[in-house]
Amino acid sequence: MTQAPVTETIQIRGLRQPVSRIALGTWAIGGWMWGGPDDRNAIATIHEALDVGITLVDTAPVYGFGHSEEIVGQALVGRRDKVAIATKVGLDWKDDHKPFRNSSPARIRKEIEDSLRRLRTDYIDLYQVHWPDSSVPMEETARTLEALVREGKVLALGVSNFSIAQMEAFRQFAPLCAVQPPYNLFERAMEHDILPYARQHDLAILAYGPLCRGLLSGKMTAQTKFGADDLRSADPKFQPPRFAHYLQAVRELQDFAREKHGKSLLALAIRWVLDQGPTIALWGARRPDQIAAVADAMGWHLSADDRREIDAILARCIPDPVGPGFMAPPGA
Ligand code: NAP
Repeated sequence: MTQAPVTETIQIRGLRQPVSRIALGTWAIGGWMWGGPDDRNAIATIHEALDVGITLVDTAPVYGFGHSEEIVGQALVGRRDKVAIATKVGLDWKDDHKPFRNSSPARIRKEIEDSLRRLRTDYIDLYQVHWPDSSVPMEETARTLEALVREGKVLALGVSNFSIAQMEAFRQFAPLCAVQPPYNLFERAMEHDILPYARQHDLAILAYGPLCRGLLSGKMTAQTKFGADDLRSADPKFQPPRFAHYLQAVRELQDFAREKHGKSLLALAIRWVLDQGPTIALWGARRPDQIAAVADAMGWHLSADDRREIDAILARCIPDPVGPGFMAPPGA
């Protein structure tokens, strides 16, 4: 039997075994903010991901308001022991489906039961606070989560979109094993603080948006349009004049990837994330044909010269970079 292409793994503290350094992100699979769900393709995508060697699936209750977790649960029937599930906690919503932050003990206690039911499992490998909630004392959030670890419902804890100060506060009351910030060639803020902090405290970094919501897939052009129920309609990177700047960077990075390494831009974008530290690239795919491209990101590395050349392209093409702050839900 030939070896599955995704061979690189990383051990997240607390988990039973190492996980693949490419994880499947399932926000788009939930449909919400991505133009609606397509369950058959979603399940086939998860199965294809497992077949190529992906052993970590990231989801969240808010992705499709339960739908993404339900699809992951359905897809993993009979295969649960082959995969680590990372899900999240701490976003709430009412009937209007407008998420807001809520990391109160009562919300956590409700969410864990809902997630376990939807995911058809009796434990979650990695349970991450989705966004910090300053209306709840960190001690209450962290101690409630730590109790879930003691009860065996969760193996390891993580946080997402947290600052260093918020992680320091969390770690006073519960063990922290992973952090999930945005990170890709165009969104690099975490290099300054979270990356060194993660190295220092042995945290795995689940880098979200490694393809920058599709910009780094190489398939977008100035003519690409997004529907009203597509988050990129509100993303400042995809509006003029910045969209043209980012597309120019995409073209130059594409040439660089092809000429220097014989690779696609997509492979370069994922390889770059994996070469930066204790990272996992959270690849957002929703159709099985998107998965095969992971093979191209394995088995090679970028040199220091390559990274300098990439930085020069970014500096030249993008005079006014912007981060992913537009995604933050209310209630900071
Ligand atoms: P992403 O992975 O950077 O990009 C997804 C985009 O890449 C989609 O537009 C998709 O195209 C495209 N794509 C994927 N595979 C492709 C292929 N083989 N060829 C061409 N295009 C391809 O961004 P993301 O989905 O925003 O983020 C990934 C995951 O990170 C999410 O699913 C979620 O698990 C996590 N996340 C977490 C947070 C947080 O706050 N913690 C926030 C955002 C994301 P199509 O549109 O055609 O499918």
